[in-house]
Amino acid sequence: MKIARVALDVPLTRLFDYSCPDALSAPPGARVVVPFGKRHLVGVVVETAAATTFDPGKIKAIARVLEDAPPLPADWLALMRFLALYYQRPLGETVISSLPPRLRSLRPLPREDRIFWRVAAAAPKAIDERGSTRKEQLLAKIESQGLAEQGTLLSGQGKDRAAERIALRALAKAGWIENAVPVAGTRFVPGHPLTPTQVEVVEALRARLGTFSPFLLHGVTGSGKTEIYLHLIAETLRSGRQAMVLVPEIGLTPQLEARFRSSFPDASIAVLHSGLDDSTRTSGWLRAARGESGIVLGTRLAVLAPLPRLGLVIVDEEHDSSFKQQEGLRYSGRDAAVFRARQAGVPIILGTATPSLETYSNMLAGRYTLVELPERASPGARMPVVRTIDLKAEPEQQGLTPSLVRAIEARLARSEQSLIFINRRGYAPVLTCGSCGWAASCDRCTARLVMHKSDQRLRCHHCGFEEAIPRHCPQCGNVDLHALGRGTQRVEETLAERFPGARVVRIDRDIARRKTLAETLDSIRDGRADILVGTQMIAKGHDFPGMTLVGVLNADSSLLSTDYRAGERLFAMLMQVSGRAGRRETQGEVLVQTRYPGHPLYAALARHDYAGFARSQLAEREVAGFPPSVFEAALRAESTTLADSMAFLRMAAELVEPPEGVRIFDPVPHVVTRRAGLERAQLLVQSRTRPALQGFLQAWNDSLFEHAPRNLRWHLDVDPIEFD
Ligand code: ADP
Ligand code: ZN
Ligand code: ZN
Repeated sequence: MKIARVALDVPLTRLFDYSCPDALSAPPGARVVVPFGKRHLVGVVVETAAATTFDPGKIKAIARVLEDAPPLPADWLALMRFLALYYQRPLGETVISSLPPRLRSLRPLPREDRIFWRVAAAAPKAIDERGSTRKEQLLAKIESQGLAEQGTLLSGQGKDRAAERIALRALAKAGWIENAVPVAGTRFVPGHPLTPTQVEVVEALRARLGTFSPFLLHGVTGSGKTEIYLHLIAETLRSGRQAMVLVPEIGLTPQLEARFRSSFPDASIAVLHSGLDDSTRTSGWLRAARGESGIVLGTRLAVLAPLPRLGLVIVDEEHDSSFKQQEGLRYSGRDAAVFRARQAGVPIILGTATPSLETYSNMLAGRYTLVELPERASPGARMPVVRTIDLKAEPEQQGLTPSLVRAIEARLARSEQSLIFINRRGYAPVLTCGSCGWAASCDRCTARLVMHKSDQRLRCHHCGFEEAIPRHCPQCGNVDLHALGRGTQRVEETLAERFPGARVVRIDRDIARRKTLAETLDSIRDGRADILVGTQMIAKGHDFPGMTLVGVLNADSSLLSTDYRAGERLFAMLMQVSGRAGRRETQGEVLVQTRYPGHPLYAALARHDYAGFARSQLAEREVAGFPPSVFEAALRAESTTLADSMAFLRMAAELVEPPEGVRIFDPVPHVVTRRAGLERAQLLVQSRTRPALQGFLQAWNDSLFEHAPRNLRWHLDVDPIEFD
């Protein structure tokens, strides 16, 4: 009997044995439909065998082999095995959750693929994303995919489908779209002649193409890292290989995608992120998997796409915490990218102005090669001057010190732009009653409700709960409620009052719609805005030519945090925001309002001294026994009572005797203990060596699956980074 071991997304840790009828061919990597209980499920054959350890009489047969997409290659299955093992998740869940949504479903892919459309030159320039007509919607969809397979464009059934086909034909007739074949077009349009330093870096990296070599590309903000990526991608395409480019949040940086498209006008670029609709994402994934797309550009999930001709891996802003998945398979997209580069025997570039301490220590240990861009690329551009404003010497008025106000005035007088950075959205973080001390808090979380003035709501930033702002105190009836502290909305209001002639705009996550965001970004770039108020959303990647001042409010709170990573995060964030100032000829200035003007973190920031900061942090972590000097995993529990969560963790700590060199710490409640009605606690496990930790985790995880109570949610997080 031929046996196929099939990965299924069911909450059991093992693979499932099915017999393979002689008429079917289901080698490892085949997507198959199998009976499971009363249902049918899509699974992936992970291995085959000649016999089963189960009762052969009870083994069911594979129902069908799906051939609408290429089978999953062996190196992809190896990646899945690695991820499942390392992050302690069932292989079935890992395999199935790594497929794009359409390949997990029983619904077959549309048969009409292999006809491709792209937007033609005669199409109108401004394509409205939310256009109302069918034609507008189709056009926008084709535009967003670059090259769209017809099958993914026809979403409806029956009549709708027919109407969509008619609309496509009409668009083609109008000359707005045209057929195209995905080819590995390698034409490259460079943005700038490279600076001598850029040339050196490109040469150093180019020499390593075709071998596994991890690089840390440490380049200051505005040093032209993107230009380096583009040159190496060009080389990769010319050699007939594919490039994988991972970025933190592509939705926030539409101009990055545009830059890739204009640099490689003939290439098929597959864009992959979770904001895409299912069919678009599946189409991009398939073009990557068939080797048709020369460039795969996406967020962390793009690291899970098969690339048969992988030649280069790039992780931009490698320090960014969004590369770590925070649910299910809690993988690090960056670390998975390193695995893939090693597996494929190709270089990987980890690019950033502020390397993560993990990456930096890998470089110091000689595992990664350092290449540096110490200066800005644009002619005449220098690093901004960074100064602190002592809040003890200069009292603030509504959050702004006189020095900062004068600096903004000076920019307005010269028609230059200012950015006021405050990493808290909403109007005020606390709404309180002056007479009885009541403060609005979330019933479901250990957290205050944040006041949002524009729509008169109170919102919980942890669970999403919201309600109307009360007219009077729910406790004593007093109508005199005070908004304490400030967020972006309040700063925006203050600035608009203080500078009545100035055009003030705001960017934070409450600007929900992509279009509003894109418009606001355009208005800043074109000089139609004078002052921008924003959160960390604007800290990264953006190039605003006219911005010469950055003011930083409320940064101190991170200095006082108990989270040992807070300093690293604050430094990176401030470096990134500072990076928005003075990216052209005019000298930029950064003013940080603080109660601790002498703090070493601000001093290092003023010197643009990442290396010094990193070394001192690494030394502190070494002494305190924190990563990266040790390896770590967290076991977390959530249940309706804190007592249950803690009891589970105490039980878990006793389950498996840790080997020499592995240490289990006492369980502790999270800082935000209750979230969305669940009480949360965690315990940490540490070891000086990764193999020792991994060995223990495997035994422990098996035991946890066996002994955990059913009514309690728990998970293991390997290399955890968030501790809220
Ligand atoms: P980074 O990603 O390192 O912050 P970018 O790649 O966004 O930097 O480049 C910063 C700015 O410098 C951009 O406006 C870019 O067009 C410009 N730039 C990059 N390389 C050059 C170059 N060789 N000559 C002139 N300008 C350049
Ligand atoms: Zn009251
Ligand atoms: Zn809440």
